[in-house]
Amino acid sequence: MYLPAWQVNIFERRLFVMAKPVIDWDLCEGCESCVAICPDVFEMQDDGKAHVKNPDACDTCDCQEAVEVCPTEAIKMED
Ligand code: SF4
Repeated sequence: MYLPAWQVNIFERRLFVMAKPVIDWDLCEGCESCVAICPDVFEMQDDGKAHVKNPDACDTCDCQEAVEVCPTEAIKMED
């Protein structure tokens, strides 16, 4: 079945929205890139690491971009 690119993007985003971001704090180096991209989802805490403050907010941002921009691959999307 052929889908136009915009419909594929919506479909992929819906699949993605079902997953939640998880941060491996052993890998996080505190660069804050994920917070800059998805401030509704990630926040920096006193330990100098990023934390997921609201995983359900992924449908309002682009957590996949945060996954891709993380320099240490500390963010994973998990169901
Ligand atoms: S982008 Fe990666 S390394 Fe940077 S703060 Fe977020 S989780 Fe940590």
